[in-house]
Amino acid sequence: MEREALHKSVLAAVFLGFVIWGGLPLYRQRHFDVPVIKGPGVTSVIRLSELSPGLKGTMADTSVFVLQGREPGGKALLIGNTHANEPEGMLTALIVIENAVVEKGTLYVIPFFNNSAGRATRPGDGYPLYFDVATDWGSRRFRYGNRDASPLDQWPDPDVYIHYPDRQLLSFIDVRNTNRTWPGRPGGPLMERVTFGAMELMRRETIDVAVDIHGAETMFPVTNCIVAPERSVKIATLASLTVKAVEGFESHVEPSPAGFRGLSHREIGDHSATMPFLLEAPIPFLDQPTGPKTVKFLLDGKDPFLLSLSKKKKLFVPYDETGWPLAKRVGQNLSVTLEIFRQFTKKTADRPIVLRGVPRYAEVVKNGVGRYLGDPAKAGPGGIVMN
Ligand SMILES: [Zn+2]
Repeated sequence: MEREALHKSVLAAVFLGFVIWGGLPLYRQRHFDVPVIKGPGVTSVIRLSELSPGLKGTMADTSVFVLQGREPGGKALLIGNTHANEPEGMLTALIVIENAVVEKGTLYVIPFFNNSAGRATRPGDGYPLYFDVATDWGSRRFRYGNRDASPLDQWPDPDVYIHYPDRQLLSFIDVRNTNRTWPGRPGGPLMERVTFGAMELMRRETIDVAVDIHGAETMFPVTNCIVAPERSVKIATLASLTVKAVEGFESHVEPSPAGFRGLSHREIGDHSATMPFLLEAPIPFLDQPTGPKTVKFLLDGKDPFLLSLSKKKKLFVPYDETGWPLAKRVGQNLSVTLEIFRQFTKKTADRPIVLRGVPRYAEVVKNGVGRYLGDPAKAGPGGIVMN
């Protein structure tokens, strides 16, 4: 009898040991904050919970950086990490926050939109918990998150997610996907409160343009493109043609499907006066038939399986030995975003959005992403926001 009790205690201790050994890295990643340097254009930083009080005190609350221009003009919102496993959007947003000087208009930037998903990982997929971007002075460390919010923050999932307000039936997991919970509601599930906060920002501040930045698989047809509803198609097309002619890269226009609910490019257009755009740059790391999901692969986008599939014409983007490096993805996002602002300004001269100091595609490809990320140790007092 005593022997059996001893056996059981030893097994319980071993089990507990495994739980702690496996859980501790996840706990640390969830509580790891990323420093964001307030660049020369940042005039204030607010919390999304100021627009959606239901977020207050939750892991889903997040920082909104405001860059008010020297002269009045139009207003734009930039969103990164709607899907926290597509980090090129977050890095694009960070480069804007840390470098942009707004001459005319006002810019609102939310780099960690699904803050809960950015503090989680995808169980069973072997995702790294962090990645480092090399800079001229060292490196910057970021969390690598998941597509959906952490179940620690929003649980349980329903059997079917009934979209609000259209009542379209969506997959259960989409209740934690901030690109299905638009336009949201103040007392809905946590992720609806996140999208509601952004909707409130757009409605209260009469924001003209919203750019939601993603990454997509090379084997997924909606990749390397600008997704735009009817309202935004003209500007998206002009931006797409200009970057192709002037900067030499492809980013075609995909119309936003009217029957598919909950997506930012759909609901922002239908529930506010804002013009939405969703950018997709190819991220080979998210494809399924690849080698191990290493940080190196996340950064350089090189994979032998995708290369052989490319030769069989199974990919929707050109793909060769050079992969699809982070600098190319972030550079494309920056150029397309700047071009959307420029085309909007040309069309709407009384609401100009003009900024300088933000690098474009060729510069980022030549110098790397890290060139445009500052050293938090060198930021003055009050110069950093932890998120
Ligand atoms: Zn996405």
